[in-house]
Amino acid sequence: MKALVYHGPGKMSLDECPKPTLNAATDAIVKVTKTTICGTDLHILKGDVPTCVSGRILGHEGVGIVDEVGTAVTAFKKGDHVLISCITSCGKCEYCRKQMYSHCTTGGWILGNKIDGTQAEYVRIRYADTSLYPIPAGADEEALVMLSDILPTGFECGVLNGKVQPGNTIAIVGSGPIGLAALLTAQFYSPADIIMVDLDDNRLEVAKRFGATKTVNSKDGKAAEAVMKLTGNRGVDTAIEAVGVAATFELCEKIIAAGGTIANIGVHGTKVDLHLESLWDRNLTITTRLVDTVSTPMLLNVVQSKRLDANLLITHHFKLDDVLSAYDTFGHAANTNALKVIITM
Ligand SMILES: [Zn+2]
Ligand SMILES: [Zn+2]
Repeated sequence: MKALVYHGPGKMSLDECPKPTLNAATDAIVKVTKTTICGTDLHILKGDVPTCVSGRILGHEGVGIVDEVGTAVTAFKKGDHVLISCITSCGKCEYCRKQMYSHCTTGGWILGNKIDGTQAEYVRIRYADTSLYPIPAGADEEALVMLSDILPTGFECGVLNGKVQPGNTIAIVGSGPIGLAALLTAQFYSPADIIMVDLDDNRLEVAKRFGATKTVNSKDGKAAEAVMKLTGNRGVDTAIEAVGVAATFELCEKIIAAGGTIANIGVHGTKVDLHLESLWDRNLTITTRLVDTVSTPMLLNVVQSKRLDANLLITHHFKLDDVLSAYDTFGHAANTNALKVIITM
């Protein structure tokens, strides 16, 4: 089968690989029909993710059709249409019993990281019963690819952890796919104001179409002043960090109102200063989280009911044969205006 293989920092190629086979009774083999590329895949290519070694098939998002199941799999059978979760969960360990699937002792984020992933014609899914979701008949499967990772990530790590409330003011720092996923799902709670912050005017325009009430371009280094002005010097009740660099987290520290919550989503590779000298008396909460995908069934219902249009996030389409062009397009989003790219087998 064809698969996109990581060959160490800066190197990848579309290779001919052996089709995966069942390894354990709880495994399933899924014929992938559609997948996508995540910002995290670009981090891997930069060499930022040491658990992902050379020779690994990348990808942790996608939909497909069950091709084969192990003898212990009871929830799925050959031919079932399934959504692949970016998080693998055994359902039995201490963390899974707490619904903290991201920290499953034998699962978590392993797909396209510690085991071969979804940017391939076939993928082996561990613990299929608890790591796959059934796709209802007639569903828009392309839209559901957004449910493998970015919608639950934006919702759980940003909106739920950020305690977004009706009538509150929130800021989302970073208007990439994850920030936009937080923007779309924050609106479940009817915040009064959603201020989107980014360096890219095109992404801020997209954010307005997606429901942002105000936008701030942070290029001039004065985003904190701009957000404070927009909030009458009060700051925001929730600041969602959706970039993963020191400057954007420190911006959240500057714009958070007393009693507010800073919800980090970004993947941070370097240290960030915590300004306790100005924050110690502000009654703040700071949260961090790796997506647990506990909200996936709920989000699936919301997308199915068309209350949320996940297709808004999809800007480009490629065939697996052109996956390198897909990476090029996704990796140069400032020029291509790419959000999520769909790769069809
Ligand atoms: Zn991802
Ligand atoms: Zn577990």
